[in-house]
Amino acid sequence: MKIPVGISSCLLGEKVRYDGGHKNDAYINGTLSEYFEFKPFCPEMAIGLGVPRKTIRLVQVDEEVRCMGSDADAVDVTDKLSQCASEQKSWQQQLCGYIFKKDSPSCGMERVKVFINGQPHKKGSGIYARTTMENFPWLPVEEEGRLGDPRLRENFIQRVYILYRWYQLMAEGMTVHKLGHFHSRHKLILMSHSQTGCQTLGQLVAGVTKDSLAEDADRYLLSMMSTLKKIATRPNHVNVLQHIQGYLKKNLDTDDKAELSEVIRRYADEELPLIVPVTLLRHHFRKSPDEYIANSYYMAPHPQELKLLNLL
Ligand code: SF4
Repeated sequence: MKIPVGISSCLLGEKVRYDGGHKNDAYINGTLSEYFEFKPFCPEMAIGLGVPRKTIRLVQVDEEVRCMGSDADAVDVTDKLSQCASEQKSWQQQLCGYIFKKDSPSCGMERVKVFINGQPHKKGSGIYARTTMENFPWLPVEEEGRLGDPRLRENFIQRVYILYRWYQLMAEGMTVHKLGHFHSRHKLILMSHSQTGCQTLGQLVAGVTKDSLAEDADRYLLSMMSTLKKIATRPNHVNVLQHIQGYLKKNLDTDDKAELSEVIRRYADEELPLIVPVTLLRHHFRKSPDEYIANSYYMAPHPQELKLLNLL
């Protein structure tokens, strides 16, 4: 079962750019397409600009950022792009993530050039992307350029998998018990992103009743996705690894304990990637299983074949 993820069409190699070209991305098309079912969409084609077409750009007009043609007879397509995004809600609501094309005045997620008095300032978002993000504030979004950074890539893919699991739970029917169980299975991941965020979510879950469930589940989703957006830090991972190590204290002999502590220390000192302490912990839990750790997604947040923990 592949996970549905929206994407700017040109990143899949579709020839929809203003000049009839594409921006095929090998990692997306080659690796991620094994796991994600991409739903391509080109907003500029959708509003009828066609190929080839004149270029458009973001321009500051009074207090507003508008999307306009670059030449003298400039068309203003701001409202069309925004409306186009809102018209896509029915298929977008099934998505567990969205990969946008960077720098585009329609699709760029952030740092898109906005022209102010003819001078470019990298501070805008593409109109289609901005409206989509406003319509689905919990949706994991990224740009293809940022996916080259191992930490941002892992963060995005982790969020996609977590939202996927959330939607599966909602489709089964959410209950107070299931929400608590979901939180418990993701607690260690949340701790690696933010101790405070994790505590806040824990308090929210502790106060949920049957009557408040629908509203609290919505609050939980928004707060969880916002917590997960913070990049997990090495010190936070060290805390989580030591916390997990605590579940083994009765099962390891002195040598094994020393080896595990040393591996965690070397990870803390940036001598080893996260996959090394995680692999050693998995090895020990195979011999001494623990229900809470077995249910936690921390050591298996996404398919191992993606090797996302190897570069953290
Ligand atoms: S960046 Fe967006 S609008 Fe531009 S060609 Fe790609 S999909 Fe179309």
